[in-house]
Amino acid sequence: MRRVAVIGGGLAGISAALDCAAAGARVTLVEVRRRLGGAAYSFERDGLRMDNGQHVFLRCCEAYRALLERLGSSDLVAVQERLDIPVLSPGHAPARIRRNSLHAPLHLAGALLRYPRLRASSRLGAARAALALARLDPQDPALERSTFGEWLAAHGQDETAVAALWDLIALPTMNVPAADASLALAAFVFRTGLLSGAASGDIGFHVATLQEILGDPARRALEQEGVELRLGWRAERLERCEDGYELSGRAGGESESIHADAAIVALPHDRAGALLEPLLGANAGRPGPLQSSPIVNLHIVYDRAVLDEPFAAGVGTPVQYLFDRGEAAGVPAGCQYLAVSLSGASAEMELSVEELRERYLAAMRELLPRAREANVERFQVTREHAATFRAAPGVAALRPAQRTPLPGLALAGAWTDTGWPATLESAVLSGHAAARVAVAA
Ligand SMILES: Cc1cc2nc3c(=O)[nH]c(=O)nc-3n(C[C@H](O)[C@H](O)[C@H](O)COP(=O)(O)OP(=O)(O)OC[C@H]3O[C@@H](n4cnc5c(N)ncnc54)[C@H](O)[C@@H]3O)c2cc1C
Repeated sequence: MRRVAVIGGGLAGISAALDCAAAGARVTLVEVRRRLGGAAYSFERDGLRMDNGQHVFLRCCEAYRALLERLGSSDLVAVQERLDIPVLSPGHAPARIRRNSLHAPLHLAGALLRYPRLRASSRLGAARAALALARLDPQDPALERSTFGEWLAAHGQDETAVAALWDLIALPTMNVPAADASLALAAFVFRTGLLSGAASGDIGFHVATLQEILGDPARRALEQEGVELRLGWRAERLERCEDGYELSGRAGGESESIHADAAIVALPHDRAGALLEPLLGANAGRPGPLQSSPIVNLHIVYDRAVLDEPFAAGVGTPVQYLFDRGEAAGVPAGCQYLAVSLSGASAEMELSVEELRERYLAAMRELLPRAREANVERFQVTREHAATFRAAPGVAALRPAQRTPLPGLALAGAWTDTGWPATLESAVLSGHAAARVAVAA
């Protein structure tokens, strides 16, 4: 029986391990933390169940949705019947970007032509730019040389249009603003998520916590498939031996080693290099040039309801997206727990909790009239320094394939070359691809 060692228990490692086990391999998965789920995790603080960061997905994330199905978690997520983004701006009535029932790309035409955060004279131009974007080929290497921002400017999109429309999609999907994003990746995101099919961009939400939807069910599914799970196990060295790979690590202060015919390294992009470089040479897994982009989440509990929508986007405010997480978290009756998600948050990473509190509570009062009267019961911050790789021009060349030059050694992770930005979907796709390499070698 073929033995496969999977290193890392995020979605990439989980997907890879499930596939290898289903293909008849004897699988051992090691994970340094005591839980599965990797970058998508939850924690409990003072009686509230919180996620480290708000995770959404789109209807077109087929691999991720299939994994949810496989984990028995589909009823703990909800996908919008039709894409519908409430947009809040200080001093303005709420607006909506809502698709209609027409085929793509006409499904968004009405929303764009009526969108009040764009000047009336800019709306047709925005629709034309969207059509031009849909015609770009994300595989064209020339697109890797410029930013999405440069392309938007060349297509008549001024700063107001970028902030009110394009960054609304660029920031949460690529974790960098349009001004810094790779044009190739932006073309992929807009084509795949919004312009290829009318229903593709309908947004999916996690109704329960990430631990309840991903971490815990993944553990059950892996155990059911016979995967040996070693949690609290830190991988330190991977070496080639005559008939496969020797993985050395530490669990509870004890050194241990695992022998396998094939190995899947499913570590984050800023951790994989240490294990891979001795095998594949300098910059294997591209740890240096592949930079990171942070995400900051603010967790605010008000003593009353201040937002009627389950989520909303902000324009003309530092608040990018906010989500009502009260039900999942188990917030006391009458209170409301809003999580503010800030992508591409390099500036916020530098601010103290007090500075964030001052800046963002003021912004929330400007945005939500009822927040002006409300008391803040709790204000917490979660910061993910290396939430994703930095999706800047040239990034495609830095993302390695799942197949390495060494037989039986595969890479997985949202950062490997899947074509997608660093997302749940990319992690799952990479896991499937790595499993094919490991099982077939
Ligand atoms: C705050 C935040 C918000 C996000 N929002 C979204 C979103 O809305 N939509 C979306 O699609 N994506 C989102 N993402 C991205 C998404 O979470 C990731 O792309 C995905 O979860 C990455 O999965 P992975 O398996 O590739 O890597 P990881 O989840 O990073 O898994 C790698 C695993 O390796 C383990 N590990 C590290 N070192 C060792 C070692 N030495 N030995 C053993 N194990 C080790 C880690 O503990 C981890 O569990 C977000 C990410 C963050 C951080």
